[in-house]
Amino acid sequence: MVHFVGAGPGAPDLITLRGAELLKRADCIIYAGSLVNPALLDMARDGCEIHNSAKMTLEQVLEVIARCDAEGKDIVRLHTGDASLFGAIREQMDALDRMGIGYDDTPGVSSFCGAAAALNAEYTLPGVSQSLIITRMAGRTPVPEKENLAALASHQASMVLFLSSGMMEQVQAELLKGGYNEQTPAAIVYKASWPDEKVIRCTVGTLAQMGAEHGIYKTALLLIGDFLDCGYERSKLYDPGFTTEFRQAEKPGVES
Ligand code: SAH
Repeated sequence: MVHFVGAGPGAPDLITLRGAELLKRADCIIYAGSLVNPALLDMARDGCEIHNSAKMTLEQVLEVIARCDAEGKDIVRLHTGDASLFGAIREQMDALDRMGIGYDDTPGVSSFCGAAAALNAEYTLPGVSQSLIITRMAGRTPVPEKENLAALASHQASMVLFLSSGMMEQVQAELLKGGYNEQTPAAIVYKASWPDEKVIRCTVGTLAQMGAEHGIYKTALLLIGDFLDCGYERSKLYDPGFTTEFRQAEKPGVES
C-alpha cells in the first residue's frame, strides 16, 4: 500500500495529523527532497527505509515501491505542499494501477496557502476578486496556449504563480501585456513557513527588479492582484443586515 501525503509548505508542524500518523507508521518513505523539509523525517521510526526522490527517476521510484510492497511494507510518498498541484502524482497512480498496488492520498497545506498566511492576505475579497488563478509561466514544461499568462492576466483576478520565480522578467512582461498595470500590487514569497522565509511586497512594475535584488530565483511564489493592497466591501456573511442559513438579519427584508 502506498500513501501519498502532502507535507505542507515547509514548517514540520504544518503537516496534517493524518499525514504525521502515516509518516510515523511507515516502513519506507520516498520524499521529494528538493522541497520537503527533511525535519519531517525525524518522525520516521527506527529502521524505516528512506529515499530522496529528487535524485530518482519515476522508474526508480516505482522500483522501490514494487519491492517494498512485495515485502508487505507500508510506503509513504511524501510530496511538498499538496500533491494535487504540480505534484506529478497522476503518472505514479496510473503506474500503481497497472502494477496492481493500492494507494490513497492525504491532502496537505499547499504553499499558496502558506504564502497567503505569510502576508496575512485573503485572495477572495468582496468587490475586488472572487477568483484565484493558480498557474505557472511556461518553462521546460509547456503551458497550453489557451492558458498563456497574458490571457489569464486579462481577468485581473487574484493570481498565484508557481514554478516561475526564475523567469520574473518574462512574467512581468506577460502580466503587463495581459492587463495588470505597473502599480498592481504583487508579492514574492520565498520559502513560506521555513525559518528563512522571505516576504517581499512590490508591484507588477517592480517584480523582476525586486526578485533580482533579493537574489530569488527558486522556491518562491509570485502573488499578484489588488487583494494585496486595496479597499474592499465587507463580507455579506457577517453583515447584520444579511440573513443566512444560521442567522436571521437584524434588519428584516435583506436576503440572498
Ligand atoms: N505541490 C506543491 C507545489 C510543487 S511545485 C504545493 O502545493 O505547494 C514547486 C513550486 O512550489 C516551487 O517552484 C515554488 O514555486 C512553490 N513552492 C513550494 N513550496 C514553497 C514554499 N514553502 N514557499 C514558496 N513557494 C513554494
